Amino acid sequence: MKKNFWIFKKNQWFFENEVPFDESEIVIGIKVKRRLYSGKSPYQKIEFFDTFSFGKILVLDGILQTSEKDEFIYHEMLCQIPMFYHPNPQKVLIIGGGDGGALEEVLKHPVKKVWMVEIDEKVIQYCRKYLPSISKKAFKDKRAEIIIGNGKKFIKKYKNFFDLIILDLSDPLGPAKDLISLKFYKDVKRALKEKGVVSIQSGSLTCQPKLVAIIYKRMRKIFPYVKVHRAVIPSYQAGDYSFTVASKLNLDYSLAAKKKLEKRFKKLKINLQYWFPEIHFSSTVLPKHLKEKIEK
Ligand code: SAM
Repeated sequence: MKKNFWIFKKNQWFFENEVPFDESEIVIGIKVKRRLYSGKSPYQKIEFFDTFSFGKILVLDGILQTSEKDEFIYHEMLCQIPMFYHPNPQKVLIIGGGDGGALEEVLKHPVKKVWMVEIDEKVIQYCRKYLPSISKKAFKDKRAEIIIGNGKKFIKKYKNFFDLIILDLSDPLGPAKDLISLKFYKDVKRALKEKGVVSIQSGSLTCQPKLVAIIYKRMRKIFPYVKVHRAVIPSYQAGDYSFTVASKLNLDYSLAAKKKLEKRFKKLKINLQYWFPEIHFSSTVLPKHLKEKIEK
């Protein structure tokens, strides 16, 4: 894997490694005030930088994972969309999510319990130290059970159990490599209840359209409803990101569905900065060329 390199000037630059399935030949460079931490776990290289434009950032194996500045976009899209598609999510599983952002979003709802299965305890340990604004009090919430383990193995122990499963994984390399296989997705479906919903961070629409299409097609093989939601996340290379949500529940737009969402959102009174009912449905509208690339 190409090493990420720095231009040592007064202020340094961090350049991201290429992401898998990347067709863009684009990598982003972010001006860095200083590197806060660099270390290796048994699974990956872990780095934290303090940057001018995005605040503190987490980098795993040279690929940016999340930033203080725009993590709310990513975590609200990844979590609030499935939480509002499902009529009453009570038992939620997060696979990955070591920064605690997804956990924090799910716990905004009156859920009974959230299991979070993260393979690398060092990611949790250092995110709590360097990025506490992302997880806030989530790791201390009594409804959360944090399990250090491989999500690929964990999921096999459950059948017809979870209302919601959120795959908040790094790119499909290293420990997350096999977690885009049809076999894994079938295990996810088996672990879901009949009307369960799964939400996946499915990569960049501009740089990784092939990856988005692969995930979409595999989901289409096992779920009747599959929606690709789009959001721009400035700290991700080229910004244009996708979240794939699938279920047996009808996920299609209807005025009645929107009204139900608005009523629930109003009653919940949760503080969100990105997600709101209109964007829940409008974010599934993709431009023609991307729709064709993904669905063909
Ligand atoms: N928000 C990031 C993004 O946008 O891609 C990803 C969130 S989080 C940092 C990704 C996490 O997935 C990492 O902490 C990594 O250790 C974890 N992970 C990777 N493979 C895993 C596996 N097989 N089981 C559980 N966790 C895994």
